[in-house]
Amino acid sequence: MATSIQLKRRGLLFVLSSPSGAGKTTIARMLLAQDEGISLSVSATTRPMREGEVEGRDYHFVTDAEFDRMVESGAFLEWAHVFGRRYGTLRNEVWKSIENGCDVLLDIDWQGTQQLKQVDPDIVRVFILPPSMKELERRLRARGTDSDEVIQSRMERAAGEISHWAEYDYVLVNEDAETCLSKVQAILDAERLKATRRIGLHDFVRSLIG
Ligand code: 5GP
Repeated sequence: MATSIQLKRRGLLFVLSSPSGAGKTTIARMLLAQDEGISLSVSATTRPMREGEVEGRDYHFVTDAEFDRMVESGAFLEWAHVFGRRYGTLRNEVWKSIENGCDVLLDIDWQGTQQLKQVDPDIVRVFILPPSMKELERRLRARGTDSDEVIQSRMERAAGEISHWAEYDYVLVNEDAETCLSKVQAILDAERLKATRRIGLHDFVRSLIG
């Protein structure tokens, strides 16, 4: 008779970074829709809400004064300035999921990734590159959410963001979202099976071989 062996494991922190426009948000949404074992860490930001965004789903939109108070009270695992605004990962968002044995997806930049690595060295870091800078600009324009000036500054910032690729564990080129998503899912699945993350593996193996 076949027995189903359910080994527990710690939830892991799964970081996705890329310059804006490389498709990271689309891939993050697709991953969350197809994989029940991972949930999004919703960051706090001082930037204004874009059309179509929802408070508490895309971000917690806060004022500068609120962000200051959150920094002072230690609410953030990490925070950084991006495009002149502040963004931060909320400690509670992350630990709530980890304690429930759920993995956490973080859509954060290289500065946040560096800080998070100090807090938890066991994080998994994935960097998504665009196929070309021309394609990146085309995708930014196709979103239709930003002015020419903002697109220009995002393109300038993109080069800086990309220069941090070597600080990541995995680097993918997003030529099409479906293919990139399947690679992201494969990385997540493999990381979940890492022996060091699997509580009870020791006891299970002992039950096999004594
Ligand atoms: P956007 O304004 O396009 O939503 O995000 C701009 C950039 O801020 C993206 O690269 C995104 O990954 C980054 N970001 C979003 N939330 C956080 C956060 O909590 N911490 C850090 N360090 N970066 C973040």
